[in-house]
Order: sequence, then structure tokens, then C-alpha cells
Amino acid sequence: MLPTYGAGIRFRTIKLKKRMMNVSKQDHLYEKTIASQPIYQGRIISLKVDEVLLPNGRTAKREIVNHPGAVAVMALTDDNKLVAVRQFRKPLEQTIVEIPAGKLEPGEEPLTCAMRELEEETGYVASHFEPLSSFYTSPGFADEILHVFVATGLQKGESKPDEDEFVDTLELTLEEAHALHRSGEIRDAKTVVALFAWENMLLRKQLKR
Ligand SMILES: [Mg+2]
Repeated sequence: MLPTYGAGIRFRTIKLKKRMMNVSKQDHLYEKTIASQPIYQGRIISLKVDEVLLPNGRTAKREIVNHPGAVAVMALTDDNKLVAVRQFRKPLEQTIVEIPAGKLEPGEEPLTCAMRELEEETGYVASHFEPLSSFYTSPGFADEILHVFVATGLQKGESKPDEDEFVDTLELTLEEAHALHRSGEIRDAKTVVALFAWENMLLRKQLKR
């Protein structure tokens, strides 16, 4: 059975992109590119150095990483636990705890990617997906956008991680997740966003009672 999801996700994403483009180009803060030097083209990211014309007429260099975008899934079990993965992150040289996530394939819809990544990394299949937030992970030097979904109605199956992906799957109570945040094991932006969004959802449910 196909999962259900909030209507208009794609439409809203396109509309938001258009609005952001208009704002940035009409704005008096706009930086016009006058030269662009490609430095590196990798499997996931590319790096270039742009020379820009500043609003005050001077020029400056901008080091820019282009990224295809990614999704993350805040998956909640029926007994109200957060599905997380523990994995080694080479740039940090340490193991951290994160919500499941993965990068978008070319032309892939975020929702399709969310369903695929959740199942591949954790084995969980969800009957319901809802968009939570889309945000830029590090706009100072990268264009990566991250789409976060909330997944519920979970059923456990077999995980199928990528060949170069090694993860431990965890199921965390809110208290356990907060303890990992305090200890520094939860320290990446998407998981911190998910943790506070989850707590907020629980608080709002309590207020409605
Ligand atoms: Mg991943």
C-alpha cells in the first residue's frame, strides 16, 4: 500500500524556490558574479570560487560548494520513540547519532527519497509522511537544502544500507534523545531540529488534552 502524505508538497517547494530567487535578485544586497572558477567536481559535491561585485562597488571572493540537496526523516514509532542511526562521520572523525537521511538522486522528488532512505538505512516502512521543514544546512558556503519529513505508522522490515554505509539503528525516548544531545552525540543540525520539533509536537498534544 502506498503511504499517504500532505498534499501539495511539490507545489509548495517550487513556489518557495521561485519566491526566494525573486527576493535575492531584486534585493539591494545582491552580489553579481563576475567570474567563476571551477575547482573540484566530485561524486556528491562540487567546489568553485566566484568573484562577485558587492553592493558598494567593490569585489570579493566566494568559495562555494554545490550539493544536490538531501532529505531526512523524523520517524516515530507507535510507542513514541524516535528512530535514529549511529554512524561514523569521517569529516568529524567521530561517531554521532542522527535521524536517517540521504542525498537526492538527480530529478528525484524529496518524498520518494525520504521513503527510500528510511527503509534502506533502518528497515522501517512508514504508512504516513508529512513535510516538517526545508532548510539550508550551511548557506555561508554551500547551497545544500535539506527537506525533513515526519514519518509515522511504522513497520519494521529489513534494512538495506549502501555498500559503503555502516549504521546501528536506535529507537530513542525523548529523554534518551535529550541525554545524547547534552553529551554531544547528537550534534548535527537536522537531528537537533527534529528533536525540538518532536518535543514541541508532544507539548502541543498535551495542551490540547
Ligand atoms: Mg545516509
